[in-house]
Amino acid sequence: MTEATHTEGHMTEPHPTPVPSTATSGPLRILITGSAGFVGSHLVERFLNEGHTVTGVDNYISGQVSNTDLFRDHPRFTFIEADVSHGIPYTGEKLDWVMHFASPASPPHYQQFPVETLMVGAQGTQNGLELAHAHGAGFFLASTSEVYGDPHVHPQPETYWGNVNPIGVRSCYDEAKRYAEAITMAYHRSRGVNTRIIRIFNTYGPRMRPDDGRVITNFVHQALRGEPLTVYGDGSQTRSFQYIDDLVEGISRLMMVKYHEPVNLGNPEEYSVVEIAEVVKDIFGSGNIVFEDLPSDDPKIRKPNVDVAKRLLRMKYTNDVQLRLEILKEEWGKLK
Ligand code: NAD
Ligand code: UDP
Repeated sequence: MTEATHTEGHMTEPHPTPVPSTATSGPLRILITGSAGFVGSHLVERFLNEGHTVTGVDNYISGQVSNTDLFRDHPRFTFIEADVSHGIPYTGEKLDWVMHFASPASPPHYQQFPVETLMVGAQGTQNGLELAHAHGAGFFLASTSEVYGDPHVHPQPETYWGNVNPIGVRSCYDEAKRYAEAITMAYHRSRGVNTRIIRIFNTYGPRMRPDDGRVITNFVHQALRGEPLTVYGDGSQTRSFQYIDDLVEGISRLMMVKYHEPVNLGNPEEYSVVEIAEVVKDIFGSGNIVFEDLPSDDPKIRKPNVDVAKRLLRMKYTNDVQLRLEILKEEWGKLK
């Protein structure tokens, strides 16, 4: 697949080896913001299956009620409908973790709600940090590969500072997450909050909204409907696609080590958008490609350097896009 290496740009020094932590021993009380979203709902499922007690919070700005309904009758699940940018109305027992996953995440969603996206990255993150601080709980931030912007360093290590247009159409998301990382580090350094930061690279799987506009959802649903696959630009831009199970595994492992610097979580197998369209075409045995305008500031390349995830979390990645897309074809096909 596509491969390139550049090394310009501002970088920080690599970080020290982490110290093992007992933070996830025993049943825990975990609050997850964005629980009705794609990633949040998979975390709820994982933690309930592990015997933990989970409170989900969501305002459904980009989530789905069906993702809450999956757990509504579970004895260890509670749901609060609230906008976490205005506060997190949790009044329950002492929390062990606050996991902040609320934020519109697909470009069409965050560009439709730019102010709300900035708010949830800024106020929402601070509200989560305050709640964690008050409970003596850990705070876990879902950040993004978008903090690297249109990168000048490839693949992207955590030490790369990024190349973000601060006033472009994607800035509501990118800069919100950069601020979210900054305030998380500030609460860690100045208030002693036990924090984690992950930079998630393009992730896909069941429970994504069919209309979320991201490339995998668009291509698979277009193929299911027998419509042409819409490739933006010439399709030479690259992304690295991670299946949801690997993300959830990485999150769970990171909770078990004390490491406060950001960690990239993503599959390092890199595809151009045209290559992904071809994979989808092969799996469905049909589907023309139509080329449409490239949205502004669309990053040209993206691929994680996963050395930290491999060393720290013992993560292993395989090139499983073909297999995973075949599974999604079955799952999403049934929903139609
Ligand atoms: P999603 O849109 O499916 O889920 C986000 C959830 O957050 C939704 O249910 C939404 O309603 C909720 N939400 C948004 N603002 C809120 C607010 N103010 N108050 C309460 N709830 C609110 O997106 P996702 O793909 O599940 O992403 C989850 C997190 O992971 C996000 O923080 C996103 O930035 C991050 N992330 C995801 C990816 C990916 O590829 N899926 C990549 C990078 C980062
Ligand atoms: N993309 C595309 N066709 C689509 C949707 C997206 O060609 O129907 C492209 C988009 O321009 C980007 C890549 O696919 O280059 C990944 O887009 P997505 O919205 O999934 O995520 P992000 O841009 O945030 O990485």
